[in-house]
Amino acid sequence: MTGDDPYAIRRRGLMLVLSSPSGAGKTTISREILSRDARLEMSVSATTRPKRPGEVEGRDYFFVGEEEFRLRINRQELLEHATVFGHLYGTPRQPVEDALAAGRDVLFDIDWQGTQQLREAARADLVSVFILPPSTQELERRLKARAQDSDEVVAQRMAKAADEMSHWPEYDYIVVNHRIAASVAEVEAILTAERLRRERQVGIGEFVRGLREG
Ligand code: 5GP
Repeated sequence: MTGDDPYAIRRRGLMLVLSSPSGAGKTTISREILSRDARLEMSVSATTRPKRPGEVEGRDYFFVGEEEFRLRINRQELLEHATVFGHLYGTPRQPVEDALAAGRDVLFDIDWQGTQQLREAARADLVSVFILPPSTQELERRLKARAQDSDEVVAQRMAKAADEMSHWPEYDYIVVNHRIAASVAEVEAILTAERLRRERQVGIGEFVRGLREG
């Protein structure tokens, strides 16, 4: 619900999806927004890809084996799932459904395939944002600066980026990430506006009735 505020209007949470080719700055933008907004929580995906240095189980991902992942698909425990760079990735269903019902918003860092599945399953709850890098050179520079992946993986991700970027028309909003601070402000503006949509303020009828009755 909306906490202890007696004036708070009951609302339904939304699903804010951020997608981009890797290296466009999406992870940095997500972290910044999450740290500044107590009503927003991150959806932590399950994946079969190996853990990278510095990644934490349960914070960055739930790292699981392929057999376990397939079991979760069969038990319908994932809201969506897809193969990305040869590994399985998927969104655990229960935490998302609980958050939305309680009026909290959920942030997703998932690819276009997952976004398509969420759109089919829950169009009304979905707000999708595609983040583009300012240039190809900058994208390559950012991927190399990470230095967590091998040259081969960087090359593979550059090739994949062009493909990934072709999906921009499927998204509600497009943000070109020239500067992190400006992009964060833009995504926050999207979130603020989408929270104010009439359909999401499910308690608004009751509130207006109260206003009219005095
Ligand atoms: P990375 O391995 O760099 O963490 O993520 C690779 C790609 O997988 C990113 O584009 C990311 O958005 C996507 N991804 C991460 N989690 C999920 C998920 O649960 N579902 C889908 N469809 N894509 C995901």
